[in-house]
Amino acid sequence: MILNTVELIKKKRSGLELTTEEIQSFIKKYTSGEIPDYQTSAFLMATFFKGMTEAETLSLTKAMLYSGNTIDLSAEKKFKVDKHSTGGVGDKTSLILGPVVSACGYPVPMISGRGLGHTGGTLDKLESIPGFDTQISVDEFKKMISEIGISFIGQTKDICPADKKMYALRDVTATVECLPLICASILSKKIAEGIDGIVFDVKFGTGAFMKTLSEAQALAKALVQLAKGFGKKSSGLITSMNQPLGAFAGNSLEMKECISILKNENQTNHFANETAELSLILSAEMMFLSGDFKTFEEAKTRAEETLKSGKAYEKFEQMVSAHKGKLIQLPLSDKVTEVTANRDGFIHAIDGETIGWCGVTIGAGRKQITDKIEPTAGFEFHKKIGDSVKKGEPLVSVYGKNKEEIHQIKTRIESSFVISQTPTNKDTLVIERIT
Ligand code: URA
Repeated sequence: MILNTVELIKKKRSGLELTTEEIQSFIKKYTSGEIPDYQTSAFLMATFFKGMTEAETLSLTKAMLYSGNTIDLSAEKKFKVDKHSTGGVGDKTSLILGPVVSACGYPVPMISGRGLGHTGGTLDKLESIPGFDTQISVDEFKKMISEIGISFIGQTKDICPADKKMYALRDVTATVECLPLICASILSKKIAEGIDGIVFDVKFGTGAFMKTLSEAQALAKALVQLAKGFGKKSSGLITSMNQPLGAFAGNSLEMKECISILKNENQTNHFANETAELSLILSAEMMFLSGDFKTFEEAKTRAEETLKSGKAYEKFEQMVSAHKGKLIQLPLSDKVTEVTANRDGFIHAIDGETIGWCGVTIGAGRKQITDKIEPTAGFEFHKKIGDSVKKGEPLVSVYGKNKEEIHQIKTRIESSFVISQTPTNKDTLVIERIT
């Protein structure tokens, strides 16, 4: 017996386990438009509060995966590998590791997402390059994978249509930070890509969806086990999002940071080295999954050499041009204002989520599904955890077009920095590996 939609929402709201049939029917009807967004919002909120069992999570993942077609890349004999991050602020590693790993000879087919909640998304970052088209057909995607070795695509009406709709709905209904919804969203996209292996970058901390290490460990274990259940090689790295990653957060600013790393330029902001380091670690982890390297270190050396040789940048340029992007026209705005330290001391903590939501306020993300992104809006970070600071020194520079909105967020940014008198350690980038 299939329940009607209201009964099904009530069942989840009461914390009862839904059957595979019920989940399949819900996802099918939501994807076709028979169930409207308002009922799905209620279902998502019920799931947010009541959670799902492992069996429900698997059924939801499968229902979302098979809401559309999967991409067949079996003609491509090399080890095809991807990475997916659970989301953060300034988290831009895909834009570097994709070109590095594909330049090393491993195809990287990426179905990516847009900004979600307070976090940024790879597709929005890529679309800050004028002309860059992420809405390509599956045939074009496959052609780029076979000819260039890398391509980025979003969920489409054919590939993961359920996640396409639900991801956008979760973004604006405060239903993102939920383990089963995150698992199903990520896995349905990644399994649809036709990959052989997948590395999960599972973030924890103030700027992540998982605030504690134990929540991130639970998510990483669930993602890795689910991926293995689909026959994929998989591992997860638990990485810190206790502060924004790298030098910049915001779409075209992050793109600028990545281009500069790919070009091996001297970094004017040394926090870009964090971005480079994490991208290389993740690249190595992806290649290590192939079984072609005796050690992780061997794979890391290969990734480093490829970045240094300029081959990763060449790959990036080829990929951008195949997606019709015009790199020379990257939009950037002038700095609008600076947030400074209100006392002497040491930075003990940074509230990454607040910084992310401030980014949404100035146009780096969406408040409503129909919002347009302002690509130039964002931040440059001058001080991070463990740094000493003098009163009046800059903590963050703010960029964008809307000066009024930018001035509104200044005090929130200032209060997201915790400055104390005692020295403290710098943050650690990678905490743990989960297999
Ligand atoms: N990335 C996704 O694709 N989905 C989520 O729910 C979270 C991060």
